[in-house]
Amino acid sequence: MPLYEYRCGDCKSRFELLVSREHADEVICVQCGSENVRRLLSIFAAQRLGVASAGGREEFVAGTGGSCGCGGGNCGCH
Ligand SMILES: [Zn+2]
Repeated sequence: MPLYEYRCGDCKSRFELLVSREHADEVICVQCGSENVRRLLSIFAAQRLGVASAGGREEFVAGTGGSCGCGGGNCGCH
């Protein structure tokens, strides 16, 4: 059940209530019983997806040249 925060327009008191969503707008003031109650923005805990960094490892493609392993150097195989 969500926790809502209300503010009474008559006695200016603020209070929190656990009410079901259907009755969220049918709340009377707990102090003076007034129906002149405004619901404030409820504070929900922001659900954050933990984004783990992937280690930052870079993959190198070894050997750009032929099969000699020199990487296109001066081995004379190219
Ligand atoms: Zn009130």
